[in-house]
Amino acid sequence: LEYISYYDHLTGVYNRNVLSELTDGETKKFSSTMEQPISVLLFDLDFFKKVNDTYGHPGGDQVLKELASTIKPMLGKKDYMIRWGGEEFVLLLPGSNLEQAKDTAEKLRKTIEQKVCCFDGQDIQITMSFGVKELDNTCSVERHIEEADERLYEAKTSGRDRVVG
Ligand code: GH3
Ligand code: MG
Ligand code: MG
Repeated sequence: LEYISYYDHLTGVYNRNVLSELTDGETKKFSSTMEQPISVLLFDLDFFKKVNDTYGHPGGDQVLKELASTIKPMLGKKDYMIRWGGEEFVLLLPGSNLEQAKDTAEKLRKTIEQKVCCFDGQDIQITMSFGVKELDNTCSVERHIEEADERLYEAKTSGRDRVVG
């Protein structure tokens, strides 16, 4: 039951229920003492509706699964990957300041941009847009995610397939 309540069954990463657990533990620990920086990264697949329209919902599901299995091994042991919504993910990066988190985002962006996902004999290529924010003591983790979302929106409106932090 615990597994079901904290994990997303399609991608195997955490679901958003895990955040309240973390804010009472991990992130609170990091952000309240500020001994270590911590950054939050929000990313969203570009034109994902078109993937579903072209390859069908199972094709879109396959992309989400492969995306998670590509990104997870690229993260550090202390990092968290959370499926935030449909095709939107949050990464919590303890120990990363804004510049380091932007570097990580850029590395992930390039990897995904170059990746070809195979579904039903067809090649699917996708790109992602990122919003990055370093946590500070002024507000909650949730509020910082909202700020990352504003930056993600900027990444979308300025052309997609990019990192804004
Ligand atoms: P943008 O670049 O602005 O993000 O465009 P978009 O098409 O990605 O954005 P939009 O929010 O319009 O569409 C997101 C789509 O993601 C719509 C929904 O059908 C799809 N989606 C959400 N969850 C899942 C899922 O679990 N599986 C599949 N296959 N599709 C999903
Ligand atoms: Mg999208
Ligand atoms: Mg979206």
